[in-house]
Amino acid sequence: MKEIYFDHSATTPVDPSVVEAMMPYLKETYGNPSSSHRMGKEARRGMENAREQVAALIGARPDEIIFTSGGTESNNVAILGTAYRHWEKGRHIITTAIEHRAVLEPCKFLQSHGFDVTFLPVDESGMVDPEDVQRAIRTDTILVSIMHANNEIGTIQPIEEIGRILKERGILFHCDAVQSAGRIPVDVENLGCDMLSISAHKLYGPKGVGCLYLRKGTEIVPLITGGGQERDYRGGTENLPGIVGFGRAAELARQFLNRVPWELVLLRDRIIDGISERIPDSYLNGHRFRRLPGHVSFSFSGVDGKTLVSMLDEKGIAASSGSACHSDSPGPSHVLKAMGYSDQLAQSTLRVTLGKDNDDRQVDYFLAILPDIIEALRNISLELAPEGECPCEDQPSRYHQE
Ligand SMILES: *Cc1c(COP(=O)(O)O)cnc(C)c1O
Repeated sequence: MKEIYFDHSATTPVDPSVVEAMMPYLKETYGNPSSSHRMGKEARRGMENAREQVAALIGARPDEIIFTSGGTESNNVAILGTAYRHWEKGRHIITTAIEHRAVLEPCKFLQSHGFDVTFLPVDESGMVDPEDVQRAIRTDTILVSIMHANNEIGTIQPIEEIGRILKERGILFHCDAVQSAGRIPVDVENLGCDMLSISAHKLYGPKGVGCLYLRKGTEIVPLITGGGQERDYRGGTENLPGIVGFGRAAELARQFLNRVPWELVLLRDRIIDGISERIPDSYLNGHRFRRLPGHVSFSFSGVDGKTLVSMLDEKGIAASSGSACHSDSPGPSHVLKAMGYSDQLAQSTLRVTLGKDNDDRQVDYFLAILPDIIEALRNISLELAPEGECPCEDQPSRYHQE
């Protein structure tokens, strides 16, 4: 059996038609988009076409798109660029405890340089309460950064509601939409944000390219200065093949989202129901309904998540424990900890994230082999557990399964 890829929140395969769109820009159309000769103009046309395609995916204007090297850079520019521009007005930033590290780290950097950062809590399904945002606002708050959908648990935040509150208060709002763009509708007007991050490799595009949406009139300081590219917001010769591929991927994503992706929702729910029925002491992580279409995350008490992932790998299934970024950083997930999990249960996690290349047969195979693997791992951990300690008793107290 061919390898089964169940890790689309870490990255997606590059769509063949994206590769096809990129090829001419690797071979013939190698001009510099800033050059004034014919070759340069042709390169620029490819780039501006991609800008229109990306803008169309999120309901923005092409001149509000700044191409970057991906989600991490976009988040850094939004947060640091706002702080450097507006620190004289105030030095308070609001974010959440469950953001991607590409948001948490720049916020922590600012914290160690005289800024105050509020990390909002979440409930047991990983949801932020808009009223908590409202209450956290101070006269010196210059920025709020909250993700649209969480990479580890798939929970979708009430961004529209938060956006309305912030618009009323005139506070800049950044949204990390790296997991949601291409998976659910993302519209900058509906969401009410001033800045929004996207990454191409999470929506069937190439790695190392993404964009920051910057609402017209929003003032930030660039982090990379040089030749004045991207309207002075991001110096350096553009990653033309990557940008063209990103544009094509955005166009495909827009077609894909023309209708609700029920196939993914059904596959997801087959896995959620299948695991809940077959495996005792399994807990769905994240919100049961307000979650990304292809996103499944479970904790299995008494099971080590990383061992589980490598056992599945041996059976030809590529999944993950928590997030891709956590696979080499030790310690339990900050997201599950913020949701009230014990260290032990937070390290018992399996994330299965589906994409348009997955099918029922693959889900059948996965559901057929998983119960035995879990049972085997639980037997091992029972044998290893110190006397008087049962890892199976480690359950989140506030959590009950649906
Ligand atoms: C993947 C991811 C990022 C980082 O994007 P890169 O393009 O890999 O730098 C940021 N935020 C979220 C929510 C992500 O899932």
